[in-house]
Amino acid sequence: MQSVYLPKSICDEVDRLCRNFLWGESSNHKKYHAIGWNKICRPKEAGGLGLRSMRNVNTTYMMKNCWNLIQDPHKLWVQVVRAKYKCKNGIIPQVMKTNKMSNLWKGICASWELIKPHICWRINNGRTASFWYNNWLPNHMPIIHYSSSFIPPVELFKTIHEYTSGQGTWQIDHLQSWLPQNILETIYHFPLPTNGYGQDVVLWSPSKDGVFTTKSAVTIASSSHTVSHPPPFKAIWRWNGPERIRVLLWRVVHGSLMTNQVRVDRGLGTDPTCSVCMQETESNLHALRDCKFAAEIWSRTSGGSLPRSFAEDNIHDWVHANLKE
Ligand SMILES: [Zn+2]
Repeated sequence: MQSVYLPKSICDEVDRLCRNFLWGESSNHKKYHAIGWNKICRPKEAGGLGLRSMRNVNTTYMMKNCWNLIQDPHKLWVQVVRAKYKCKNGIIPQVMKTNKMSNLWKGICASWELIKPHICWRINNGRTASFWYNNWLPNHMPIIHYSSSFIPPVELFKTIHEYTSGQGTWQIDHLQSWLPQNILETIYHFPLPTNGYGQDVVLWSPSKDGVFTTKSAVTIASSSHTVSHPPPFKAIWRWNGPERIRVLLWRVVHGSLMTNQVRVDRGLGTDPTCSVCMQETESNLHALRDCKFAAEIWSRTSGGSLPRSFAEDNIHDWVHANLKE
C-alpha cells in the first residue's frame, strides 16, 4: 500500500467497513450512524476519535514517496522514476502529470502540492538553492512572491550565492529595483552563504530537525478536516473515568444521543416529548439533567448540595465544568 495509489472506490469501501464496525452494523442488521465519518476522522481534541480515512492514510504514504524523490536520489526506484518522468537534475524534481503515467506517479502528482510548501533550505555555500524560487528566508515565501516589478529572465536562474559580492556583503543595490524595502532589510540581516560550509541542504519545515516524519505528514494531509477546538472534547478524553462513559459524554457533546427530539429532527419519529415525565421535549440536556426524574437523581447523589449554577449552563459548559471538578 505504501507505493500504490488507491482508487477512490477502494478508499470508500475500506472507510465503509470501518464505519460499520464502529457502529456495530452487519450485512443483515442496519445500525444508525450517529456521528458523521468526517467528524470521527478529526483529532480527538477537535471532536473526533482520531481515526484516519483511507485516503488520508494513502496520501501520507504518497507524500513520503514525494519526499524520497528529493532525499534519496541514490535509490534505484528514485533514479528510474526521475528519469522516466523527466524530473530534471535539480535536487527538487520537476513533477508533472503525463498522459500515460504509472499508478505510483499518479499518487506522487496528487500529493506533490501538499509537500511543496514545506520544502525549505538551509543555506550553506548558497550555490544550489535558487534565490527567487526556493524557500530559504525563514518565515517567508519564495522571494519571487514579493517582487512587484519585472525581473529579467537571466536573474531568475540565479542562486543565492550570486547575489553576494566578493567583499562579503549582499548585493542589496542590485536587488532594490525588484524587491520592497522590508524584504531587502530581512535579506541584509540574513547570514551570508559561506564557501567552507558545503552544499545547501533541503529540509522538511514542519519538523524541528528538518527530517520528514509520517506524523507531520498526517497533520498536513488531514489539515482540511481540522476545526477550531471546542473545549469539552479535550476535557472528556483527559477525564480519568470509564471509557464507555467518556464515549457517552463525547456523544452528548455532539448532540447525537438518540433522544426523542433527535428522532424527530432526523425524521425517525413524530413526538419529541420526554417519555419519562411526559411533559417536556426530550433533548440531550433534558434527558441527562433537566427532566424532573434526572434532577431527583442528581439531587440525591449530591446529598442536596448542588450549586444553583448546575442547571444553568448549556450542554458544552455543563460537561466541561463538571469534568474539571
Ligand atoms: Zn422528562
